[in-house]
Amino acid sequence: MLRFRPGDGGADVSQEAVSRKDAAAPQRRWRPSSMISRLAAAILDLCLPRTCAGCRRTWLLAEEGYWCSDCTLGLGWIKSPRCPSCGAPFLDSPQSDDHLCGDCLRNSFTFDVARSAVLYAGGVRDRIHQLKFGRQLHWSPALVDLLMETCDWMKAFGPVDVILPVPLHRQRLQQRGFNQAGLLAAEFGRRLSMPVRFGVLGRQRATQPQTRLGRRERLENVQGAFAVAKPEWVRDQSVVLIDDVFTTGTTLNECARVLKRAGARRVAAVTVARVAPDGHVHGVDDPGDSGWRAA
Ligand SMILES: [Zn+2]
Ligand SMILES: [Zn+2]
Repeated sequence: MLRFRPGDGGADVSQEAVSRKDAAAPQRRWRPSSMISRLAAAILDLCLPRTCAGCRRTWLLAEEGYWCSDCTLGLGWIKSPRCPSCGAPFLDSPQSDDHLCGDCLRNSFTFDVARSAVLYAGGVRDRIHQLKFGRQLHWSPALVDLLMETCDWMKAFGPVDVILPVPLHRQRLQQRGFNQAGLLAAEFGRRLSMPVRFGVLGRQRATQPQTRLGRRERLENVQGAFAVAKPEWVRDQSVVLIDDVFTTGTTLNECARVLKRAGARRVAAVTVARVAPDGHVHGVDDPGDSGWRAA
């Protein structure tokens, strides 16, 4: 099972770089209060059985996390070999070592590091769709369980000053009623006890879905779409951008570009899932939140 559940974890974690092991450590201390809370969780589970976010199987005892053991194993975790900079997995050469991808060799990205937990497929893709388009907001903590497993990048990145969600355009926000990246960022920051700011980075122009565009069109599509409304929050700061899906990296890169221009010292781009770098989008109709979607 994944380790994190809402209401526990993170409260004792400092703002220093946090490894997965370090982040989980406070939960493992034996304390009467933790025993009581575990007992309370077990009683709660008996009344309200937990449902696995992957297979929808329910269980009765107080297991941690939102994904059962079987689903956790089958989630398509992104791991080495991958690009140490943008996190792109090398699915076609599983025996190779980590190395820079073509995009990073060309210095295509402005963010300092990008990481995604899993490939955008299967149950994760379904939960993200249900969160975004089905208003099933209760999947947000289950997706943050996956985000928590990406924290290895923090060791090299250093202390994080602020977490920002990739913003929605105002019109889309009114239409959807919420920003899924904001939900994920809020929960992620809460678990790591790191500050999350809303309204610092804004989306001033609606854009088309990125996956239907070529490389040049993607760049043009997001150019000028974002602006830093409150530069005082990012100037000389280490910023973590949160989104649900890394599709082409163009949207996150444009966000990083305006943040750097506003004085951000370092920018990490972290997403729950990443579209496999094979040109296929696994039947996704609107991956990431890179575009405008008609009602
Ligand atoms: Zn399951
Ligand atoms: Zn790369």
